[in-house]
Amino acid sequence: MSSETTRVAVIGGGAAGLTAAMFLARGGLQVDLYDQDRSILKRARLLNLPGQDELEGRELLDQLRGKLDALNVASHEGRVDDVSAVAGGFQISSAQGGDITVSYVVLATGQGTLRLPSLAVQTGEARQPFVKGNVLTDHWGATSVPGVYACGVLAGWPSQAVVCAGSGANVAIEIVSHATGSFWVDHDDTRLSADPE
Ligand SMILES: Cc1cc2nc3c(=O)[nH]c(=O)nc-3n(C[C@H](O)[C@H](O)[C@H](O)COP(=O)(O)OP(=O)(O)OC[C@H]3O[C@@H](n4cnc5c(N)ncnc54)[C@H](O)[C@@H]3O)c2cc1C
Repeated sequence: MSSETTRVAVIGGGAAGLTAAMFLARGGLQVDLYDQDRSILKRARLLNLPGQDELEGRELLDQLRGKLDALNVASHEGRVDDVSAVAGGFQISSAQGGDITVSYVVLATGQGTLRLPSLAVQTGEARQPFVKGNVLTDHWGATSVPGVYACGVLAGWPSQAVVCAGSGANVAIEIVSHATGSFWVDHDDTRLSADPE
């Protein structure tokens, strides 16, 4: 599969989804981000970001969103209503963004109930208080439906911004690696990926 033609839909633009979108785009994939702008980060005052001073959650969202324009991520405001398996991938249905077909889907919808009636991902009881339910994944964020990944609070990660962002990076690394057929990590200098002499 050519990464140049690989299209990925990220559903949810909070800590996890925005981070996933950034790394997917940096990995060369074509990314469509859908978000209702209801991230719980908007209520947070962050005193615990590694290496950072205190930051309002809204500021972190703005910073993460700001990275996406330069990476040509297509942003669609509003709710995704359904995801259906079709020949060659998945159809994303939303009133605002129209229907598009993608090869991979990243679910990053946070702590609410996942309402995508045609998508039969395996779910389980939530690990965290206040969370309606978790989508079950493997270590790399893969769900029971091949091609569909989940991250952040939805996937059972602890509700802490840096953890959820990291889980978004993790699924992006896995999808880029899968799409390109070789293991990928986002390093600024490819020499760092080579074996030490
Ligand atoms: C009051 C409060 C204080 C907090 N304080 C801290 C703190 O000090 N430090 C810290 O590290 N963490 C803190 N957190 C936790 C942190 O905000 C979360 O861990 C983090 O935001 C979770 O990221 P997420 O991407 O999983 O979910 P979210 O950030 O909630 O993002 C989910 C996104 O998905 C979108 N969405 C959902 N369904 C759809 C759909 N069908 N279509 C399109 N979009 C959809 C939502 O609109 C939302 O934007 C706090 C949380 C709260 C509530």
